[in-house]
Amino acid sequence: MNDAKRREIFTRLRGANPSPRSELAYTTPFELLVSVVLSAQSTDKGVNRCTAKLYPVANTPAAIARLGVEGLTPFIASLGLFRNKAKAVVGLAELIEREHGGQVPRTREALERLPGVGRKTANVVLNTAFGEPVIAVDTHIFRVANRTGLAPGKDVAEVERKLERTTPPEFLRDAHHWLILHGRYVCVARSPKCGSCLIADLCEFRDKNLPDDDRSAKAAAKPVRKPSTRPPAPPARGRQPMAKTARAGARRGRSR
Ligand code: SF4
Repeated sequence: MNDAKRREIFTRLRGANPSPRSELAYTTPFELLVSVVLSAQSTDKGVNRCTAKLYPVANTPAAIARLGVEGLTPFIASLGLFRNKAKAVVGLAELIEREHGGQVPRTREALERLPGVGRKTANVVLNTAFGEPVIAVDTHIFRVANRTGLAPGKDVAEVERKLERTTPPEFLRDAHHWLILHGRYVCVARSPKCGSCLIADLCEFRDKNLPDDDRSAKAAAKPVRKPSTRPPAPPARGRQPMAKTARAGARRGRSR
């Protein structure tokens, strides 16, 4: 994909959503970090339902550490992998309290040393909480980058590298959210909404999902068989179908 196309894609995404935001509910970097850890294999809505009850009770590293795994578990029990997540969240709270004075660290290396925090989570926190121009490639961004041709890659590391290298600097900070929201709501995994996609003419995906209108237009363009105007063909010569009464007579004759 050339630079002009890439720039136009981000220009349109920005035009549609000038200030993209995470769909996770948070008010501090620590809340964001906890919410991102909880969001693994769970929906943002599910996480928000849990944290709406948790954060009024405990939203600092010290408070979560005090809660402990036993105290935290009931708040997040509706999420998948909640036992592991409870251990990770309490572990990272204790480490932040002990080694970082209760403040979420601002470097990838320090973030990645926290329990339950990998490169993707670290990048989300760096980008969303601290405004760093990095892109956390999740399943949505991976799909959009490959389909559109923005940054084709065989794994998330390659896609991340390409996106960070090729995205025009003015779009880099928000690219993460534009692409994630585009993948979540338009360029969905099954049946992408290409018919209403605002970058469809720029996207290089070969198997675009055409809208029904286009399909019916194609169907309408197929040649339709006209009814024949020729008279019906005469019955074939040779053995003729027997009438019902004639068949009955023949059976009677044989039985005599
Ligand atoms: S045109 Fe279709 S495949 Fe391309 S970005 Fe839009 S929704 Fe995704």
